[in-house]
Amino acid sequence: MIRKGRLFTPGPTQLLPAAQLAMAAATMHHRTGEFRALYTKVLADLKVFIGTRNDVVMFTASGTGAMEAAVSNLTSPGDKVLVLSAGKFGERWEGLAKSYGCVVETVRSPYGGTVTPQQVRQALKPEHRVLYMQATESSTGVRHDVEGIARLLKNSDTLLIVDAITGLGTTHFDVDGWGIDVIIGGSQKAVMIPPGLAYCAVSSRAWQRMESARNPRYYFDLRKENKNGAKGESSYTPSTALVAALAAAFDYVREQGGGDLAAGRELLVNNAETAAAMTRAAVQALGLRLFSASSPGAALTAVASPDGMDSSDIVKAFRNQFGAVIANGQGEMKGKLFRIAHLGYYDYLDTIAAIGALEQVLAELGRRLEFGAGLRAAQEAYAAAAKESEPATVGS
Ligand SMILES: *Cc1c(COP(=O)(O)O)cnc(C)c1O
Repeated sequence: MIRKGRLFTPGPTQLLPAAQLAMAAATMHHRTGEFRALYTKVLADLKVFIGTRNDVVMFTASGTGAMEAAVSNLTSPGDKVLVLSAGKFGERWEGLAKSYGCVVETVRSPYGGTVTPQQVRQALKPEHRVLYMQATESSTGVRHDVEGIARLLKNSDTLLIVDAITGLGTTHFDVDGWGIDVIIGGSQKAVMIPPGLAYCAVSSRAWQRMESARNPRYYFDLRKENKNGAKGESSYTPSTALVAALAAAFDYVREQGGGDLAAGRELLVNNAETAAAMTRAAVQALGLRLFSASSPGAALTAVASPDGMDSSDIVKAFRNQFGAVIANGQGEMKGKLFRIAHLGYYDYLDTIAAIGALEQVLAELGRRLEFGAGLRAAQEAYAAAAKESEPATVGS
């Protein structure tokens, strides 16, 4: 059959067609009233999408740019920081903090597990200036308990920095209520546009910390960028096309929410939750094991490669046979698991198609299975989720 190119990877994700058109049409200069209006609107929409009253700052960079900003702007050489690490992105926090001369202590979980608030409570010391964590660890599919960990930091001087690059749009957050000092997102994930924009919301406590933080920063200077953002400008030449794409993506999310962006965001999170529940049900019905069974997130589902099978072969077969790109394991996990994304522009039909393709691929690689077993479990999971979200009828 013909092959359509499709991305099922947890970044970059499948693109929103309206955003692609907006990118192609964006011929603006960035020092014009037209662009300032667009930039101002996007920053305002970002606040709603993140769900915060804090200032939002955007950089033209991949997500790691905003992670670096959250280290360079908030720390001084010799600062003690605590990192939660349960995968490749937790390890990125460790590497970043060490690069800036921080003394890094780590609460670690084996790949596939989460770090519990109890573990954090034991490791946390008053001298930890900052705690760095992921909301969802995209290399393993795990979701961490941001709320539980935030509670431990209330009334302490430790800042809470959350890499929610795959957490935003897949997880319900109360950013201001829980006290998240910096929450970070990236464009190639749930907002359905290409890589190249990183953004973060910054609390007043974090702005204060920047007054005394002595690590060097230039491009990723949060205070400079925030000052310019207030005027509808970026400090340097921003990716105007991506900003236009992000505006179109928020218009889509708003429209899905019946004209309300916050409602659209909730719907997007629930959408990912439903796709994840369908996929988990399917792979288990096919006798496969979830890689992060104890605390699976909705951004993606990581599935352990069945005994005797290399996940690279599964990934390859998806691409060769169906033009669909799923993700292999990263680093040491390569060959041992595969990952299917749910964040952003994936609907029921996409999810069912990926599960159907998985059945085909596994059968061809020699696994014994009953066609339809995974699909059936997914359909049942969908029906259960749809029933749960039905509005309660009065009087019955
Ligand atoms: C994608 C991702 C990042 C950012 O990676 P970049 O390649 O710099 O965009 C960071 N953290 C998590 C959890 C991610 O999924």
